[in-house]
Amino acid sequence: MPIDSALVGALHVKYLREQDLGGDEHLHHTLFQTSTIDALLEGSYEGDVSVAELGAHGDFGLGTFDALDGEMICLDGTFYQVKADGKAYPVDGKARTPFAVVTVFEPNVSQALSMPMDFEALCGYVDGVIGDGAVCCAIRVDGHLEYVKTRSVPRQHKPYPPLVEVVENQPTFELRDVSGSLVGFRFPDYAQGLNVSGYHFHFITADRSAGGHVLGCTLTRGELHIDREGDLRLELPPDVGLPAPDQSAEKGETLDRIERE
Ligand SMILES: [Zn+2]
Repeated sequence: MPIDSALVGALHVKYLREQDLGGDEHLHHTLFQTSTIDALLEGSYEGDVSVAELGAHGDFGLGTFDALDGEMICLDGTFYQVKADGKAYPVDGKARTPFAVVTVFEPNVSQALSMPMDFEALCGYVDGVIGDGAVCCAIRVDGHLEYVKTRSVPRQHKPYPPLVEVVENQPTFELRDVSGSLVGFRFPDYAQGLNVSGYHFHFITADRSAGGHVLGCTLTRGELHIDREGDLRLELPPDVGLPAPDQSAEKGETLDRIERE
């Protein structure tokens, strides 16, 4: 049973505890997320939900692993872990995550992208396709990229430092002339605190050998798929509370340092 439910902007958010996760049917256009970006920022890196549990709620998504051990990519129902060496590894269903968001990917929109675009242009283009309205979307781009810059994060040890300190020493990787998939989400401003408002993409190569959190890219051509989401089922670990609305400039700046370049 859900412990609480709330309407945040246009996104229906339902709060759950881990014991409430079982036996969930596949809900259409629904995001499933464990914990909040605010909790992750503060160093809550202890995973409480397993990858197997996560996989029961979606076949597409991103996140991180217990002890902040790398970047998570879920694509076509398979989970990958990009460790601090930039390489992608298979993931055991027993692995745990402190923060992840997945959905059963069912695109409402699919279209070819035939013009080269840098990251900013791509996000602007997707904004145009989505149109007005502060909706939440899952976004997949399969294609060829002239350039991708990614990062990963190294496994942390207790006491866990805040994320802003971890990313000061994050390893970054540059891939050139590579085929692969961008796996990501666009969250509206009102979702700040729950997730990263704006765009958040992870990348994995077509041969599933490398990837990470995307800091920048130049897409040559590709296929864009968008799944507009209406609901968010949010699993909160015992020590994680609801985020206080904070759209201050300072908070935005901290997130920019962590998620962008
Ligand atoms: Zn990321």
